Amino acid sequence: MSFTLHGLGVSGGIAIGRAMLMSHATLEVAHLTIAPRLVDKEVARFEAAIAAVKAELLQVKESTEHAPAELAAFIDIHTMFLEDPELVDKPREIIRERRCNAEWALVQQMEQLVEQFDRFEDAYLRERKLDVVQVVERVIKELLGHPGRHALKAAKNSKEDSLIVVAHDLSPADTIAFKEHRFAAFITDVGGATSHTAILARSMAIPAVLGLENGRGLIRDGEQLIVDGLRGVVIVNPDQRVLEEYQLRKEQIELERSKLKRLKSAKSESLDGVSVQLFANIELPGDVPVALEAGAEGVGLFRTEFLFLNRGDMPDEDEQYEAYKKVVKGMAGRPVTIRTFDLGADKDLRPETTAGDRVKTNPALGRRAIRLSLAEPRMFQTQLRAILRASKHGPIKLLIPMLAHAHEIDQALAALEQAKSSLRGEKVSFDENIEVGGMIEIPAAALAVGLFLRRLDFLSIGTNDLIQYTLAIDRSDEQVAALYDPLHPAVLMLIAHTLASAEKVGIPVSVCGEMAGDPELTRLLLGMGLRIFSMHPSQILKVKHRVLKSDVGELAPNVRRILRLDEPAKLREALEKLNA
Ligand code: PEP
Ligand code: MG
Repeated sequence: MSFTLHGLGVSGGIAIGRAMLMSHATLEVAHLTIAPRLVDKEVARFEAAIAAVKAELLQVKESTEHAPAELAAFIDIHTMFLEDPELVDKPREIIRERRCNAEWALVQQMEQLVEQFDRFEDAYLRERKLDVVQVVERVIKELLGHPGRHALKAAKNSKEDSLIVVAHDLSPADTIAFKEHRFAAFITDVGGATSHTAILARSMAIPAVLGLENGRGLIRDGEQLIVDGLRGVVIVNPDQRVLEEYQLRKEQIELERSKLKRLKSAKSESLDGVSVQLFANIELPGDVPVALEAGAEGVGLFRTEFLFLNRGDMPDEDEQYEAYKKVVKGMAGRPVTIRTFDLGADKDLRPETTAGDRVKTNPALGRRAIRLSLAEPRMFQTQLRAILRASKHGPIKLLIPMLAHAHEIDQALAALEQAKSSLRGEKVSFDENIEVGGMIEIPAAALAVGLFLRRLDFLSIGTNDLIQYTLAIDRSDEQVAALYDPLHPAVLMLIAHTLASAEKVGIPVSVCGEMAGDPELTRLLLGMGLRIFSMHPSQILKVKHRVLKSDVGELAPNVRRILRLDEPAKLREALEKLNA
């Protein structure tokens, strides 16, 4: 039967392919009855999974020399649980007594334990239930196959290059792991338009629809799907006529893309000769060829936190140095802006342990990015030293995320000085004059931008977070996604104020949030005075196309008028005229 689902189209394009369902650990555990003759086998399967997770933890621990002490402690706790009779013997008994599958037995026992932990008076002990949940999730993932592991293996072996990932949710860590695999599209039940999962889908230039609510429950493995990433539509089991229509649209999109490729070597300047720099946002060193292919003039944002995800340990200084060197060498003399890690919130090093706290403590407002860097000075020094060492191989700029306070900038600069002086002491060469910039992504930073302009060499506006914090909209929550509005007058005022203030003192400013890669906003931003745009490589040529067809001198007075409008309908109408 054919049916259509609607969600948020977060990455344009059309994909036609087969559904590949991703499992979601404990949520999707089936209750199966086991034939008496298979009970021993089921127990053995359970024991093997426990042993595999124990071995995995041991391996993580052995390779965590540079990890914070708390990570090692957390591994110890998990290992301890894996030896506890409550988690090892009891599920075995449940399998035998109730003749059920191992996953189900484990979840039953987990629920019992969680109830017991909830009754503890001591807050610390109560919290340990999160560890129980996490350990159980690990074992279940092992039993089911890691969420993704089966799919990734299948994708690798599949002759089809049109597999569509169907998941309840995908963390940025899951999504980044897909970079090496060819999927035709992603669809998920949750997630907002500027969630990092959406950003990654766009960076891979594959269609994605998020926030489908119950797609994972309605779609079956192997069913044929059409994903329209622009309109946010998923058609399940399309009939022949619909299929042909979409095939045609897909071909048209591909034709337009190939036409755009001709612009690659065109000079990026407006009709009236204003030159506009178009940079790439990257997540991993492997993204460099795509950035070059799109004609990027440099890297405007390297989100280094992705080097830290999907692993039990931390990348040490040498590993990070190699990654930064690879990028800077790959960009062959073009500038590379490396942002220090923006970990925390949805890019959590230990997502499972904080999952329960997430709602309560609101991690987007918590210890994230520079706040985490300053709280973990060893981790921060390791990264700063690695970046400095890589700076001898080509032009590197350092970018600090999520700054709000003058003292945070001062502390970050002092940490950089410390890293420099330790390298000097070791006679290691680096760029002494490395430029340091700050991200403007908290409204307070945009309003008090003078603090930043006095202390830093350049600024980069992170509109994704700026919008989230200005409008109090969680960017990864599909329930409020409709309120996430780049054109809200307050957002435009903050961007305009930042650009105008920086221009007065001659400090360069870029925009590296998603707004920079939206061709519908290119003219607006140009008219506001923006000259440096950083975006996914997949957007560069589309934005360049707009730049080449714009007259900045003509745009400026129109945009000034737009900025005085605070009625959304009028503002949108004026923007349409500007783009016409
Ligand atoms: C932003 O917030 O706009 C930004 C570029 O950073 P990130 O999307 O990684 O938070
Ligand atoms: Mg940000």
